[in-house]
Amino acid sequence: MIGELIPRRPTRQIMVGDVAVGGDAPVTVQSMTTTKTADVDGTLAQIYALAAAGADIVRCTCNEQAAAEGLARIVPRSPVPIVADVHNNHLRALEALEAGVHCLRLNPGNIRNPDKIKAVATAAGERGVPIRIGVNGGSLDPALYERHGGEVTAAAMVESARHEYALFREVGFDDVKISVKASNVPLMIEAYRLLADDPFFIDDEGRSVPLHLGVTEAGPLPGGLVKATAGIATLLCEGIGDTIRYSLTADPVEEAVAGRLLLESLGLRERKGLDLIACPSCGRAEVDVIALADEAQRALSDMKIPIQVAVMGCVVNGPGEARSADLGISAGRKRGHVFVKGSVVSVVAEDEMVDALVHWAGIIADDGVDAALARAEEGAAAAAEADRAALLDEQGDDANASEQRVEIIRALEGKN
Ligand code: SF4
Repeated sequence: MIGELIPRRPTRQIMVGDVAVGGDAPVTVQSMTTTKTADVDGTLAQIYALAAAGADIVRCTCNEQAAAEGLARIVPRSPVPIVADVHNNHLRALEALEAGVHCLRLNPGNIRNPDKIKAVATAAGERGVPIRIGVNGGSLDPALYERHGGEVTAAAMVESARHEYALFREVGFDDVKISVKASNVPLMIEAYRLLADDPFFIDDEGRSVPLHLGVTEAGPLPGGLVKATAGIATLLCEGIGDTIRYSLTADPVEEAVAGRLLLESLGLRERKGLDLIACPSCGRAEVDVIALADEAQRALSDMKIPIQVAVMGCVVNGPGEARSADLGISAGRKRGHVFVKGSVVSVVAEDEMVDALVHWAGIIADDGVDAALARAEEGAAAAAEADRAALLDEQGDDANASEQRVEIIRALEGKN
């Protein structure tokens, strides 16, 4: 099938609350709250915002007893499963389990005492709560770091995960997912590839553990977004990864939105909201495409409609280039041509273009594309064709006036 990614690598499935991770479950989006977990109302407000933005699972820090107490109050009221992030005190993990969290995240580089690790795994096993082995290139066990030549390598990160997993298995616990994050994108990619191929994690049925992807400390926008996307998308396109998190230095809602959009753009999740596409504009543009696209995005995103809408700068190429969009508009001769699946359904004045998009988006949302096509206004297609023909007459094939510019340049040359 055109556009299909290579198949996902087989992994076992675990349940984080009621959300399946791994196996044939859709790839999920995670994010993390930035509030103090002891601030129950503040944290819940952020969890709700993250869930609304597309997060399937939310992680909260459990760095002190007050945070664990906060979790006990947050978990029953949360709309999505909660993961407790445990730093270096295994008691916080035991407290988080008492609080009823749906998953723990342990960093093997921070809690290194085997007895404590096994105590947490045993308690999690008794409650049916999974654990993410969250290896971080920046906080490897110093002994491991030394063994790998004083460098953070992909092999060292995977070895850290193996060590933790082996301890878990000693107490009969293997309800895990694993991450091997690094802030260096090529290193992170190499570590996940190594992990995905490592027979140590693969069971008799050829399934590995579910993998949680992320580029740690990716940083602020836009660089953080690019780095995280480069790492996560590369692996997803190789069939690696069951759940993802963007670690951005930004409002965590941005992380959830980015995660969701990445999965939708790769066809790994169904589109939940608007997908606005727009042409980059060129010499043919009959309108300020950037301003029009921004305005359309604002007007349509509130509608929460899972459709693709195209904003195109001209009627010469616009409708053709965006014919796969559910709905679109292209500008020409002070008018906007509204099209549905490439067929013109209405021609409106330039200052009514955004209102027209909202109107037709409503029809598609309520009654579907075919109903919108059936309601095409009489004469719209002919009026649009007349505009297009007139513009082609005016602009010809050289909309960017290249030939005219060449003549001017030549004339300048002649003067010197
Ligand atoms: S040709 Fe038209 S649709 Fe294509 S980039 Fe230029 S203005 Fe936009």
